[in-house]
Amino acid sequence: MRRDNLLDHLPHVLLLGPGPSSVAPATYHAVAQPTLGHLDADLFCIMDEVKCGLRELMGTENELSIAISGTGSSGMEAAFVNVVEPGDKVLTLINGFFAGRMAEVAERLGATVTRLEFPWGQPLDIPAVQEQLQKEQYDIVAMVHAETSTGVCNPADVIGALLKDYGALFIVDAVTSLGGLPLQADKWGADIIYSCSQKGLACPPGLAPITFSERALGKFRGRKNKVPNWYLDAGLLAQYWGGEKRVYHHTISSNLVYALYQAMYNLMEEGLENVFLRQRQAHEYLVQELEKLGMEMLVAPAYRLPMLNTVKIPAGMDEAAVRMRLRKEHHIEIGAGLGPLAGQIFRIGLMGYNARPEVVDRLITALEKTMND
Ligand SMILES: *Cc1c(COP(=O)(O)O)cnc(C)c1O
Repeated sequence: MRRDNLLDHLPHVLLLGPGPSSVAPATYHAVAQPTLGHLDADLFCIMDEVKCGLRELMGTENELSIAISGTGSSGMEAAFVNVVEPGDKVLTLINGFFAGRMAEVAERLGATVTRLEFPWGQPLDIPAVQEQLQKEQYDIVAMVHAETSTGVCNPADVIGALLKDYGALFIVDAVTSLGGLPLQADKWGADIIYSCSQKGLACPPGLAPITFSERALGKFRGRKNKVPNWYLDAGLLAQYWGGEKRVYHHTISSNLVYALYQAMYNLMEEGLENVFLRQRQAHEYLVQELEKLGMEMLVAPAYRLPMLNTVKIPAGMDEAAVRMRLRKEHHIEIGAGLGPLAGQIFRIGLMGYNARPEVVDRLITALEKTMND
């Protein structure tokens, strides 16, 4: 190995992309606390509080509200692998990249997947969803609440209300919305909601919050065969995260648990209503300042995500060069477009700790300078 330590020269990058977001200082402090054993009673006390915090953030009374050891995609895998059996009919509502990934995950588990597709940049079309539900019976319906690839907020509440007449399990991806928008798992009738640590919670990546309703666990218990993934098996995870006697399953990162705990503690101290308001105000301020620079948003105001802002690239702008210069000269990371939106948009995240006016000011100043050059 080289004898100069690369960490001595690590830049402090302001993370304004689609995630990870900048980690709050108190949360960095939490990560550096002494590592505890994965079966330590003190760690279990913290994990119990994590479960309480997740219930509050996700709007649920579900007992099994835990964090999977892995990123947001491990939450996605855990959601599907526990309830999908080969031959199950899964309806995926797709208006962006991440709903497409859900379809891919369900297909690999042997589900018969229907992809109901909508234009990227627009919300899910309710009458079209209703029509599809009347046409065919589904075991599972899956959607993305905050579609990070487009900046669209999808109506999880309305889709959930529709589904009450049909009996399908309802899986919601809240990877980007958790911590920035209110989630109401129980009110929406969502059976599984999963998320990640590194976006709205302003934690390092590595944990995926997830909650399972009794109905979801009913389908899990009624499986003909074991869950085809030992690491993500909800039954085994439940025995580690709760119950009379905790059973060893895997060596959870106690340091990441501290981080998740501290991140939620920060939000509760600020008050969730205040957090959501701060998030909305930072978004509105950003949009106002971007429009002053002559830039235009991709998504209509009513459907915009406050934490992920998609901005059209002005004609003639070399978008890759702008992102490169922001990173190199101003130590700011913003995101590029994905799939059909590649080269068409910037994705500017104002997630968690970064949803503040001074952060918007720093970005706008840097962006203006870069554009003028
Ligand atoms: C980021 C993201 C994911 C994937 O999360 P990873 O932490 O990258 O695995 C899934 N769904 C949505 C909506 C996301 O924004």
